[in-house]
Amino acid sequence: MQKLHELKNNYFCPMIFADTHTHLYLDAFEDDRSEAIQRAFDVGVKYLFVPNIDAQTAKSVLELAQQFPNQIFPMLALHPTSVKSDYLQQISEIEKVLHEHNNLVKGIGETGIDLYWDKTFLKEQQESLEIHAQWAIKAKKPLIIHARESHKEIFEVLHSFKNQNLKGIFHCFSGDYQIAKQIVEMGFLMGIGGPLTYKKSTLPDVVKQFRLEHFVLETDSPFLPPVPHRGKRNESSYIPLIASKMAEIFNTDIEAIAKITTQNAITLFNIKDAFNYE
Ligand SMILES: [Zn+2]
Repeated sequence: MQKLHELKNNYFCPMIFADTHTHLYLDAFEDDRSEAIQRAFDVGVKYLFVPNIDAQTAKSVLELAQQFPNQIFPMLALHPTSVKSDYLQQISEIEKVLHEHNNLVKGIGETGIDLYWDKTFLKEQQESLEIHAQWAIKAKKPLIIHARESHKEIFEVLHSFKNQNLKGIFHCFSGDYQIAKQIVEMGFLMGIGGPLTYKKSTLPDVVKQFRLEHFVLETDSPFLPPVPHRGKRNESSYIPLIASKMAEIFNTDIEAIAKITTQNAITLFNIKDAFNYE
């Protein structure tokens, strides 16, 4: 793989974006990972936040981040769909990696509860979310939440951490107005990705009832590509497509979307050497 210094990073790009959720280490990028990262840089997607899935991928995320410091930021947790009978073992292995690379890791995620695929391990998923929330509070890092048919269960767990300065993102937000309102009241942000651009999406109607301060952009690549790339692989260089749909919904320009959502991400993840817009 090419190293960062071999890639051109255009600091004079008029717009700077953050992709707050990309699984760049997956096999889907095996053949062209460097090129995909370069394409993201070329369109101004300067910050890439990469969550692992399990103990195995925790190492892949770290390796990638070490090759691209200040551009690729790891986040660590056990993904809810990877919570099985060995979850405590997995969590302890991930915790070890977290301790070894505490300064490099910018977020705890993705964690959460997924009841779409399987309800067998609900109790274990709740406990896993609790453990990750404790990590986030202790390490003062944002918590990245994956929610699928489980907002009620997640709010129940997070409620027990009230007033402990727990912050984060509901990644790939897909709820209704009431759910969005609860997320905002808890001080969490909503991660908006490709589904915003889908023809039948009800997301635009929900999103426009909130201020831009409550949103960050994400691809969740290689999954959930925005229009016109549906059915193909998603990648971070498609972030401007999502930004442009946001601009349309908020009746503003894409520069304003870039500026506010990138600032939201930089502040939440506490990125020190951030590009200064002013
Ligand atoms: Zn994800």
